[in-house]
Amino acid sequence: MTEGTGALFREDAYLQETEARVIGVNERGGILLDRTVFYATSGGQPGDTGYIVRPDGGRIAIATTVTGETKDEIIHVPAPDQSLPEPGEMVRVVIDWPRRLQLMRMHTACHLLTVVCPFPITGAAVGEAESRVDFDIPDPSYTKELVSERLMQLIAADHPVFTRWITDEDLAANPNLVKSKNVRPPSGTGRIRLVGIGENGSVDSQPCGGTHVRSTAEVGAIHIGKIEKKGRENRRFRIRFGPLPQ
Ligand SMILES: [Zn+2]
Repeated sequence: MTEGTGALFREDAYLQETEARVIGVNERGGILLDRTVFYATSGGQPGDTGYIVRPDGGRIAIATTVTGETKDEIIHVPAPDQSLPEPGEMVRVVIDWPRRLQLMRMHTACHLLTVVCPFPITGAAVGEAESRVDFDIPDPSYTKELVSERLMQLIAADHPVFTRWITDEDLAANPNLVKSKNVRPPSGTGRIRLVGIGENGSVDSQPCGGTHVRSTAEVGAIHIGKIEKKGRENRRFRIRFGPLPQ
């Protein structure tokens, strides 16, 4: 099973469903398709849930999506006790769109947080209700009030969010694009996906393979719910939906 999966979400994160052909079912029941709209767990963003409709109308609930031996192999993991499709079957695959949209809003909010807090990132995780980004941040003036206010300014400005591809050489020539302290984007494949915010990336530009909303206004109201001290200079910022509680 070395055949890769066409990852439609990379070019259009707003696709909610697609027709696809089953190319295999692995020994653990994971379903491989020739193309998909399901994002596989990676880069701190959880994999999609949803369902697959078989030609007879039967539905297979998908509990999560993960990558296989390579990042190009996307495995749709069924919930317990589901029927399994046959290789060659044409199916319709549908993501849980409300959940994915929450994740896209949260993921984009994480990018905005790295703009407001321009410090080395030591960890991040995107969730439907709450996300977190950890920074080495020596400056105590970054309070949840200040950071929440600056986040909402970026959201109110309704900056476009876009993706473009660059080469390994482009990235090597612009090392400041990488904000993670320890994680380097995968290189060696020849091309790297950049996510930009603002005209020509004037607000931000960084390598990322995740799914994002198409403009910052779509993030909606968010705030920093909590800032936790994780080390001498390390701080964990928790992003939540809604305005900062008064
Ligand atoms: Zn991203």
